[in-house]
Amino acid sequence: MSVTERQIRDELAKVMTPRGVPLTQAGVLSEIAIKDGKAYFSLNVSSGEVQAWDKVRAQAETVVRAIPGISVAMVVLTAERSAGAAQTGASKGVPNVAGHRAPHGRGGLPKQSEIPGVAAIIAVASGKGGVGKSTTAINLALGLRDLGLRVGLLDADIYGPSVPRLTGIHGKPRLNDSKKMIPLEQFGLSIMSIGFLVEEETPMIWRGPMVMSAVTQMLREVAWGELDVLVVDMPPGTGDAQLTLAQEVPLKGAVIVSTPQDLSLIDARRGLAMFKKVNVPVLGIVENMSYFQCPECGTRSDIFGHGGARHEAERLSVPFLGEIPLHMSIRANSDAGTPVVVSEPDGPHAAIYREIGGRIRDQLKGIIAAA
Ligand code: ADP
Repeated sequence: MSVTERQIRDELAKVMTPRGVPLTQAGVLSEIAIKDGKAYFSLNVSSGEVQAWDKVRAQAETVVRAIPGISVAMVVLTAERSAGAAQTGASKGVPNVAGHRAPHGRGGLPKQSEIPGVAAIIAVASGKGGVGKSTTAINLALGLRDLGLRVGLLDADIYGPSVPRLTGIHGKPRLNDSKKMIPLEQFGLSIMSIGFLVEEETPMIWRGPMVMSAVTQMLREVAWGELDVLVVDMPPGTGDAQLTLAQEVPLKGAVIVSTPQDLSLIDARRGLAMFKKVNVPVLGIVENMSYFQCPECGTRSDIFGHGGARHEAERLSVPFLGEIPLHMSIRANSDAGTPVVVSEPDGPHAAIYREIGGRIRDQLKGIIAAA
């Protein structure tokens, strides 16, 4: 039985709001997206109201989830930030999630509170799409796992979540008794992706200010358990949504993935600047598709003028984390749902990802050990 928007609105009409009218009359509802038993929408309130509305958000989720035929309901609360708070360039429609904001981080910017049980959250980012950010994120997560760490992976690439494809997971997360989503387990990693909740063709609703709110909920309404490292696969680029994310997720560091080409390095530089702006330390640059390695004979060819990222890292005084070759088996295995670290654990590529993982672990050592 497919659920209609009418049914959802009828249920939402039973939820009262702080404005003294039912939710459907409060003028805060976004469009409602329904697909395969999953419903998504946002409540857009002003920043002063966020605290009072968090309860409404939770109630809305509960009543929609109770409709027979609905398996997932996700309601996000978004708020316009007051003009004085918009210091970062992410000025419009920055969502605000009640109760999650610690007063101020370094540099006077508001900082999100930590995720209990998670020692270090790190971002894997790129200045543009298609450089192998997601492939690097999953293999790096697996490399860290191989070093004996407890690792989670959060696919926050709202514009093109690829973790379902990279891991071959097509299940849906279940809820635990406290109504938190249970991450899916694969290859010894705890994995959560916006792609588990939204079909690839329906991301429109997430654009703009909803991006951050959706990611915040994936961070905080998921039962991550005890993790040493949570790797966040960021949306590519350095726009407002990415900047807001970099600011709002309590990141301990960021890894920038770049290809050796000049253009991509310019984009990578923008990525570095973005993290600097929000006081997130850059753990280093990874050069992906660094050189071409012939799958037949293993011969190496520097088809892209290899070494650009290493040079750039030196120039900018950030660590250079390693070079990953352009290799058929990295592509083929990723696209088949078995990342190369899983399918060829003793091969040379897995070793490179573990080495990069080791360099990152060393930088996070104090944080992980403290946890
Ligand atoms: P992004 O997340 O930056 O958009 P992806 O990780 O989805 O990029 O990679 C884009 C494509 O490039 C995918 O088909 C992936 O398998 C391939 N790819 C990524 N890294 C490599 C590599 N080192 N060697 C070969 N193919 C790669």
